[in-house]
Amino acid sequence: MKKYVIGNWKLNPATQAESLALAQALQEIGQKPNTNTLQVGCSPSFIHLSTVAQTLKTSPIWVGSQDVSALGATGAFTGDVSAVQVADLGAKFTLIGHSERRQYHGEDDKILSQKIINAHLADLMVVLCIGESLDEYQSGLAFNVLDKQLSVLHRIDKNQINANKLIIAYEPVWAIGTGLTPTLNEIEKIHTHIKHYLHTQYGANLPILYGGSVNDKNAHDIANCQGVDGVLVGGASLKIDSFSTIIQAFS
Ligand code: PEP
Repeated sequence: MKKYVIGNWKLNPATQAESLALAQALQEIGQKPNTNTLQVGCSPSFIHLSTVAQTLKTSPIWVGSQDVSALGATGAFTGDVSAVQVADLGAKFTLIGHSERRQYHGEDDKILSQKIINAHLADLMVVLCIGESLDEYQSGLAFNVLDKQLSVLHRIDKNQINANKLIIAYEPVWAIGTGLTPTLNEIEKIHTHIKHYLHTQYGANLPILYGGSVNDKNAHDIANCQGVDGVLVGGASLKIDSFSTIIQAFS
């Protein structure tokens, strides 16, 4: 299966000039991967999306957004940015359901399912993020929580979902930005579980990415885990040398 290395820049960097510099550095390293086997992507903040998309226009690197509106393509939705608008700028994908969106913006299954529908209507690839909290992990509830989060797909009419444009990112909340990661064995077990669940529930064989404190030191081991089809990278995607090493690990 094709591999994916996707950077999530979150609310970084502060200036357009810094985003431009990051995109230019990425363009240099992004010339190398063969996109038949490895897809590299980055998701800047909405405000820098246009600059980054223009910079990477001729590069094989995908640019994506970190979210899209659940409401409409256009209309009286103050402050929202639609999937149609980001697709128009050249975005190829969007993250949906990142734990920071769930935590700080109260995004629930009703909202997330509408976002998935809107992204697919705009022909964007969806990277649906799921993951358990530390409490849930310590209580041995990870599988139940992940199944519940994946069941958001049940809310969507089969005609409105495009399995060819869906990627799952498993990101344990307790591993995001903390320097902590599950053991390689745990990552393999969870990815196998997610693949099995998606296959039995939806007959789908989707790419499953791992996310949470991936860096230049652990990328190689994670890349060799069974069932890991790539990574979603936060902090380390802002450091071009680290991100380049992570890309190499999946090349
Ligand atoms: C993320 O926020 O998607 C993420 C994986 O962050 P980090 O790599 O910094 O843990």
